Amino acid sequence: MKRGQVIKDVALFPMEVLAISQGMYGNFSHKGSMAIDIIGSGGGIEDAYAPFDCTLVWRDSLSGNGLCFQSDRAVLWANGTTDFVTFVMWHMNNISAYRVGQKFKQGEKIYEEGMAGRATGNHIHFNVAKGKYGGGYPLVRNSSNVWVIKNQVEPMSVFFVNDTVLRTPMYQWEIYVPKVEFNRDGTAKIKIKANVLNYRKTPNGERVGLLPSNVELSYLGKTNEIGGYEWAEIVYENEIVYCALNQEWNEVVLPVKEVEKIVIKEVVKEVVKPLDETIEKNGMKVRVVIT
Ligand SMILES: [Zn+2]
Repeated sequence: MKRGQVIKDVALFPMEVLAISQGMYGNFSHKGSMAIDIIGSGGGIEDAYAPFDCTLVWRDSLSGNGLCFQSDRAVLWANGTTDFVTFVMWHMNNISAYRVGQKFKQGEKIYEEGMAGRATGNHIHFNVAKGKYGGGYPLVRNSSNVWVIKNQVEPMSVFFVNDTVLRTPMYQWEIYVPKVEFNRDGTAKIKIKANVLNYRKTPNGERVGLLPSNVELSYLGKTNEIGGYEWAEIVYENEIVYCALNQEWNEVVLPVKEVEKIVIKEVVKEVVKPLDETIEKNGMKVRVVIT
């Protein structure tokens, strides 16, 4: 993810550059641990961002300066499931400003690399767990005598790497592709009204160019909200591109479905009332009964 990036309730990898100096189950200090040591671009101290809206639920009082965060809601995981996520980060040089209960919005800085505790270079020791923080010390000692977070999971199963630069080819990471809602029958249009409206190759991705004003383009559907907008999937110059949906900038014109004409034939039924009366004809009384 990038600083400030928001894909609501979707778990994003918390650094702009993904590089791993020690992987899961590493012999150095990750025996039996699904922790990864992340180093960003390498060398210096880089920031980590909140992968989703989360709360600081625990802080270390020893030398490693570990912090434990929990997602505020269940979020979408890279493996397609939805659940709460708890994670620890270790080695930031100074955590004196942090208070348990502190809230972080997705995309805000939550931590940074460092060398506090047992560390040979600037990095973040990153260990991720399924579910909510259960209270108490968030780690347990495993059979290899290594401290691991309770209910640990592989970080690739949780975090999407949208807009993260992958520096070390390690593990299989997923990119979040937003769901496009609406049928693709190709008959819906979008009227472009704004004079300056960027289009992009991906929803909220890099700007590619400007759409012409006062035109109608094919409208294929819209995504979930990303970065504060829903994104219209449209066809422009024979390519599928995206622009932000906003009533001032554009207007979606959905096809009018033809209403089937239903003809109701008027049916008149003769109602025959039962009859029982006596009539007089030619001086004779006759009783007429019709049932
Ligand atoms: Zn580590």
